[in-house]
Amino acid sequence: MEGMPNAATPTHCPYCALQCGMNLTAAADGTVEVSERTDFPVNRGALCGKGRTAPEVLSSRVRLTSPLVRSADGTLVAAGWDEALDRIAAHLSRVRDTYGPDALGVFGGGGLTNEKAYALGKFARVVLGTSQIDYNGRFCMSSAAAAGTKAFGLDRGLPFPLEDIPRTGCVILVGSNLAETMPPSLRFFRELRENGGTLIVVDPRRTRTAEQADLHLAPRPGTDLALALGLLHLVVAEGRVDEEYVRERTSGWEEARAAAMAHWPEQVERLTGVSVPDLREAVRMFCAPEAAMVLTARGPEQQSKGTDTVGAWINLCLATGRAGRPLSGYGCLTGQGNGQGGREHGQKADQLPGYRKLTDPAARRHVAEVWGVDPDSLPGPGRSAYELLDALGTDVRSLLLMGSNPVVSAPRAAHVEERLRSLDFLAVCDVVLSETAELADVVLPVTQWAEESGTTTSLEGRVLLRRRALPPPDGVRSDLEVLHALADRLGVEKGFPVDPEEVFEELRRASAGGPADYSGITYRRLAEENGVFWPCPAPVSSATSVMSATLGTPVTPATPAASAAPVTPATPATPAASATPAASVSAALPDVHPGTPRLFLDRFATDDGRARFVAVSHRPAAEETDEEYPVLLTTGRVVAQYQSGAQTRRVEELNAAAPGPFVELHPRLAARLGAAEGDPLAVVSRRGRAVAPARITAGIRPDTVFMPFHWPGEGRANTLTNPALDPTSRMPEFKVCAVRLETVGGR
Ligand code: SF4
Repeated sequence: MEGMPNAATPTHCPYCALQCGMNLTAAADGTVEVSERTDFPVNRGALCGKGRTAPEVLSSRVRLTSPLVRSADGTLVAAGWDEALDRIAAHLSRVRDTYGPDALGVFGGGGLTNEKAYALGKFARVVLGTSQIDYNGRFCMSSAAAAGTKAFGLDRGLPFPLEDIPRTGCVILVGSNLAETMPPSLRFFRELRENGGTLIVVDPRRTRTAEQADLHLAPRPGTDLALALGLLHLVVAEGRVDEEYVRERTSGWEEARAAAMAHWPEQVERLTGVSVPDLREAVRMFCAPEAAMVLTARGPEQQSKGTDTVGAWINLCLATGRAGRPLSGYGCLTGQGNGQGGREHGQKADQLPGYRKLTDPAARRHVAEVWGVDPDSLPGPGRSAYELLDALGTDVRSLLLMGSNPVVSAPRAAHVEERLRSLDFLAVCDVVLSETAELADVVLPVTQWAEESGTTTSLEGRVLLRRRALPPPDGVRSDLEVLHALADRLGVEKGFPVDPEEVFEELRRASAGGPADYSGITYRRLAEENGVFWPCPAPVSSATSVMSATLGTPVTPATPAASAAPVTPATPATPAASATPAASVSAALPDVHPGTPRLFLDRFATDDGRARFVAVSHRPAAEETDEEYPVLLTTGRVVAQYQSGAQTRRVEELNAAAPGPFVELHPRLAARLGAAEGDPLAVVSRRGRAVAPARITAGIRPDTVFMPFHWPGEGRANTLTNPALDPTSRMPEFKVCAVRLETVGGR
C-alpha cells in the first residue's frame, strides 16, 4: 500500500466526514502537491480550501519531530522516544497500582482512523483494564446516533448515499451550514433544485447555506424540537399522514401523534419565532413530492435534549412515510473525518468494535475471543466525554489523549483546562503542540494522514482507504507504534501490531456479526472499489459462525486469508440485498458481499423490522435567558478552520482568511449596545467571559449571537458554553446558552 515516489497517490482529505478524494504527489524535496481526483464520486475532484492546503501541515515548521517531556523546571524539553515511552509506562503503572485501573483515563478522537480507534479501545480495556475511555465524537454526533438507534435499531449517519439527494423531492436541512463545513457537498443540493426539488434550511442564522434555500426557517436556538412537533401537528391536521406506511412499517404512532397534537402551531410560533404560514409552507413543500429527506447536523443534536430533538425530526419522516423508501429518509451529517467509524470500533465509553454494546454478554464474548482474553476481564461502560474530563484530577488521575484538543473544543473549556492541569500525569499524542499538548507531561509526535495507511468511514457509511503517500519525518512515529510500545512496556507483548492492515484484519474479525460489520471488507477491495458501504459481512461458510448480538443472524468471522482472496468488482446492491444487515447476510450473496449503500428498504434493524416512533415533547434549554443574561449564544464553524483549529490555524492561507473569532450580532442588538462593526465585545455567560470583535449582520436573530469556536485564548467560545448533558446521548449543550454582552474599552 506504499505510495510511490513522484507518482500520484489517490487518497482522502484528513479533515471532515465528506472525506473528499484527492491525489497526492510527493517530490524528492519532501514537498507534497494536491491534485484533482475525479474518480471519487462524492467530490469529483472538488476540494475546499482546507483540503487543498492540508499538505502544508505535513511540512509545517511547527510540526513536532521529537518527543517532549516536562523537565524539573516545568518546561517541555526534547527527549528520546525510549525516555518518553518509559516515563508514560511508569506513570500509568504507578497510578494503576495505587488507585486502580479506573484512575487511568483515555481520550480519543473522531479524526483517528478505524485502526487507531480500534487499537485505542483495545489498549484501554485489555492493557490498562480501565472503563474510562471516551472520545471527542461524543461532542459531535451522539444525539443523532442515539435517536437513530432508538428509531431504526441501527445508526449509520446517512442510510443512503449522497448521490440520492439530487433525485429526491425535498430536503429539510436542520442545523447544518454545509456551505462552510463541507462546501463540495453543496452541489448535491444545487442539483436537487435544478431537478425541481426544494430545499428548506432550519437555522437561527441566515448562513451561506440558508441563502440557497427555497425556505429558511430561523427558530430561536433550543426550540428545534418544538418546530418539528409543530410541523408534525400540521401534517396530522392537514391529513398528510401516510396511514398505510405507518400501519405496515412502524410502531408507537399513537403516542407520538398525541404528543405532537399537544403542540399547536400558534404555540410553536410563540416558542420558535417561526410563523404559522411558514410552518404550513414547510409542510406543503415536504409532503408534496413522492420522496423527501430530513438531514440533521450539530444544530439540533448539540442540545441537552438533542436525542429527543432528532427523534422529533425522525417522527416527521416516519409519519409521512419518508424512511426506508427509495430516495427518502432521515440522515445525520456527521462532522469529523472519521466521525462515523470512530464511533463504531471501541473508543466510545459504551461500545465494543462492530458497534456492539459493551453491556451485551454475547458481544463481550465475541470480542474477548478475538482479543484472546476472558470476557469477564473486560470492564463495563465508563464516563462520557465531558463527565470524564470533569473527573480529571479526582477519580481519574492520569490521562492518555490522542487526536483531540479539548482545551479548545470542550464545553466550559476553562474548567476543563483546570481539570487537565490538576492531573497527576497527562500524555498527549499530536502532530503540533496543541493547547492541550502544552499542558502535558509527555508529548509524543505522531504521523499524519498522508504518512500512513488507514481506513476511515465517511458520513455515508462508506469505508475508505487512505493511502500512505510519503514517509514521515525522522523522529515521528505512528499512534499504532505508540500503542504497541506502551503495551509492550506494560507487559502485553502481543496483540498490538504496528501495521494498519494487520490491525484492520483483526477489526474485521471483531466486527463480524455486529451492526457495523466490516468482515467482508479488505484493503484490497477498498483500493479497487473506491470504498465499500457497511454492513459488509464476509460470506457465510461452514466454518464456525458467530451469532450476531444485535440482529440474530449467523455470520462467519472473516479470516486473515480472506484479504488475499480474488476480488470481484462489487455490483450495486439491489434494494433486496441492501435492505437490512440481516437480509444482506442471509440472502446467500455471492463470494463477495457488495456492501450496503442503502439501508432499511425492506425492513428496519429493530427486532420486529418496524421503525419506532418515540413520543417526545418540547422542553426548554438547560439555560434560558433572564435579566442578567438576556441573549442566547450559539456556536459553530467557519469555512477556513476545522474543529479546534490545531491544524488549520497553522496554515497561512487559512489563517489569513479566518484569523480569529468574532461575535456575530443583529444591527438592533448592536445599536442597543452602541457597538459598531469591529468593536471588541465581551460575551459573558455563567461559566466565563470571551472577547472578540463585533460582526454585525441582519442575518441573525436579534435575540441571538453567534461565535465560531476554533480559537483558544481570550476569544475562546467554549469558555462560555454549557456542559448540560442530554440524558441519553450525554451530548453537551454547545448550541444554546444564556449570555450578556458588554462593550470593551470604554465604548
Ligand atoms: Fe472535502 Fe471536508 Fe476536506 Fe473540505 S475539509 S476538502 S469538504 S473532506
